[in-house]
Parts: sequence; structure tokens; C-alpha cells
Amino acid sequence: MAKIQMKTPLVEMDGDEMTRILWKMIKDDLILPFIDLKSEYYDLGLKKRDETDDQITVDAANATLRYGVAVKCATITPNRARMEEYHLKRLYKSPNATIRAILDGTVFRAPILVKGIEPYVRTWKKPITIARHAYGDIYKNSEMPIGGAGKAELVFTEADSGIEHRQLIHDFDGAGIVQGIHNTRASITNFAKSCMEFALSTHQDLWFSTKDTISKTYDGTFKEIFQTMYDKEYKEKFEAQGNTYFYTLIDDAVARVIRSHGGFVWALKNYDGDVMSDMLATAFGSLAMMTSTLVSPSGVYEYEAAHGTVQRHYYKYLKGEKESTNSVATIFAWSGALRKRGQLDNLPELVHFADCLEKASLDTIESGKMTGDLAAITTLPNPQSLDTEEFILAIKEKLQEIL
Ligand code: NAP
Ligand code: MG
Repeated sequence: MAKIQMKTPLVEMDGDEMTRILWKMIKDDLILPFIDLKSEYYDLGLKKRDETDDQITVDAANATLRYGVAVKCATITPNRARMEEYHLKRLYKSPNATIRAILDGTVFRAPILVKGIEPYVRTWKKPITIARHAYGDIYKNSEMPIGGAGKAELVFTEADSGIEHRQLIHDFDGAGIVQGIHNTRASITNFAKSCMEFALSTHQDLWFSTKDTISKTYDGTFKEIFQTMYDKEYKEKFEAQGNTYFYTLIDDAVARVIRSHGGFVWALKNYDGDVMSDMLATAFGSLAMMTSTLVSPSGVYEYEAAHGTVQRHYYKYLKGEKESTNSVATIFAWSGALRKRGQLDNLPELVHFADCLEKASLDTIESGKMTGDLAAITTLPNPQSLDTEEFILAIKEKLQEIL
């Protein structure tokens, strides 16, 4: 069989530990035998980041802006322990934070559904994708303890005129606490745009929820920016493909999400998204079956698995012990990136390959062959628990059948 040809390179970002081992197996067994892979390779492994003073991460992000599509392996976010382990020159920022800042993007987390791994919520039949606004609010707050009686105020001083605007927060008659948070119209606008673009490109409805009845100005601004953008730029496009935009209060949304069948994108403010994404990941069954896509408002896409580098498995692997690490989310990062590349470059064979790769992965699990994490929770009778490489080879066999 002739290999599938590509036009534009994918930006390929390699990573760390067990996922780096998965990365090579996936490429060798599931990608390179079928595709004449064009990729611009960036090694974001911690060693290389340290050697280049983290310039490699910046270069990879800039290449993503140039080419439009990237696939990324999980990477270590260094802490003190990692600094000693890898003899680092300094504590680097999380690569994801660096890339997100350059792409100015929003992260979309979506579960991969498969028969035999049942969501805890019985009504969920399709994935629910969470879009978390990754700027501001309590994550960039300013807070202080209040020692005793006194007046706490909001003060804004205009840069040009020096005019002060003051508003009472609370007149304390004893000790307490106070906090200031902010957001910018630019960041909220980019968030809204990424959400609308992502929902459109995946043919899903978009939900958005805040607490605007209580927070009329702060949350109200989020609501207003989303609604105005939808009415002006997206309503017709959504309706043309049978999708809608739906705004409701956060508490109403939570209740509706639980009763829903899934199959939509749920946009959330920073804190709501932080909390709800962990709830949804667990409720859908497994963190190892969750993908993560970073979408910039200009329509640049970066695909990865939502889990980390699976350090515990890597140490077993180094000792030569058998381990069983689930590669599905990393495989779906590849298929997502290849599909997007295929769509942008008008390469139907590449899109078809991405579909087949995903189908082969799910069929393998549904046939009872899976990694240990899934075997432990599956509802299928007599699951066969495979090690890391056996599972990838089982997918390869299915893929060859399907292709
Ligand atoms: P983790 O790598 O997600 O793993 C936590 C635990 O979840 C594992 O020990 C394993 O449980 C289970 N697990 C996760 N993925 C799995 C998979 N594919 N197959 C089977 N089991 C899986 O999180 P971590 O151990 O807290 O973090 C390790 C490193 O990853 C850290 O250095 C962190 O900075 C980095 N990280 C990177 C990203 C990213 O690049 N996007 C995201 C998160 C964390 P058992 O041990 O019980 O088998
Ligand atoms: Mg969280």
C-alpha cells in the first residue's frame, strides 16, 4: 500500500518520561508505516529545554503559529524535585503555559467514549467538551487579611487624567478578608472567539454559563461579550449547520448537564472550568481517556492528551518491569492533528486515516483488549489486560484490517 502523502508539516512536540516512550511506539507502529509523515520536530523533553534555556518551547509555539497545527506529548512541569533530578539551570515555566501565552488560546478537554467504559452518569451518550477560560479571576487575584475595623474600597485611577473612581466593598467592624480580581475585554473576546470557532469546527452546540444575576457587571460582561459576538458573527454560521448557542446561569447549567445526553461544548470561566473539568473527567470514567486541544482565536490548533507523563510507570519501565500505560489519549492527539491537517490541506485520505486510527483504537478496546487502567473499570466480560506495547500492536493489527 502506498503511503499517504502530506502537504504542510505538522509541528511535532516530543515530551518526557512514559509518554515519550509511547510517542515513539505510536509513531513507529501506527503512523510511519502508513503516512509519509511531514513534521517539524521540536524536542520539549526537559533535558533539551534546559540545554536551550527553554527557547525550544518558544520556537515550537512560534512554529505552531506559522503552520497552524501541532501535536504535543506530555511534558514535565519542573518543581524542586525535578530540578535536582535533572540538574536544571533554573525552574522553567510549564511548557503548556508558555505555549498558551504565545498562542493566546483556550483549552478544550473532551473525553473519549468507548463501549465498556461507562460514564457514571447514565444519560451521557456523547462527550461533553469543557472550554475553560485560562486568564484572570482568582488565578491573578490580589487579596489581604483585614486586621480590624476599617473601610475596604475599590479604587481605579485613570491613566490619562489621574481621576479616581471609588466604591465601597465593606465597612469592617472587625477582622476579615478581602480580595480583588480582574479580567480584560480582550481576553474574554479571544475566549469567546475560540469557543465559537471550536464549536463550529466540531459541529457542536455551544453552552456558556456564569452567575450574572449576582455579578451583574463582572459576569454580566462575559455574558454580553459572548452574546454580541454570537449575534454579529456566528449566528448564521451556527444555524446553517443546525447548531445553537445557549446561555444559562451556572447553577441551571450544572443541573442540565447532568440530565443531558452530552454532545456539546460547555464554556466556563476560569474557576468554574477548573472545578468542572476534574468532575467531568472522573465522571466519564478515566483521565487516561481525555484529550486536550488548545485553540487560538486565529484558528491555530494544538492537540495533546490531558494526562501527564505517567512518572510512576516510567520508573517501572526503566527497571525493565512490565507496565501497562494507556496510549489512547496520545493516539487521539495524533489523529486529531492529522485530521485537522487533512481538512486544511484538502487531503481526504489523511482525514480518512485519522478516522480509521481512532476506530481501530476503540474497536480494540471493545474487543476486550485494553490496558490495565481500563481493564480495572470495564463492564465488558473477561477483559484481556495488555502491556503498553502489546496494546499498541493490537491497535496496529486492527488498523491494518480496517485500512
Ligand atoms: P499523570 O502523569 O497524569 O499520572 C497520574 C496517575 O494517573 C498515574 O500515576 C496513573 O495512575 C494514572 N494515569 C495517567 N495517565 C495514564 C495513562 N495514560 N495510562 C494509565 N494510567 C494513567 O500525573 P502526575 O503523575 O501527577 O504527573 C507526572 C508529570 O506529568 C509531572 O511532572 C507533571 O508536571 C506532568 N504533567 C504534564 C501535563 C501535560 O504536559 N499536559 C499534564 C499533567 C501533568 P497509577 O499510577 O495508579 O497507574
Ligand atoms: Mg483542577
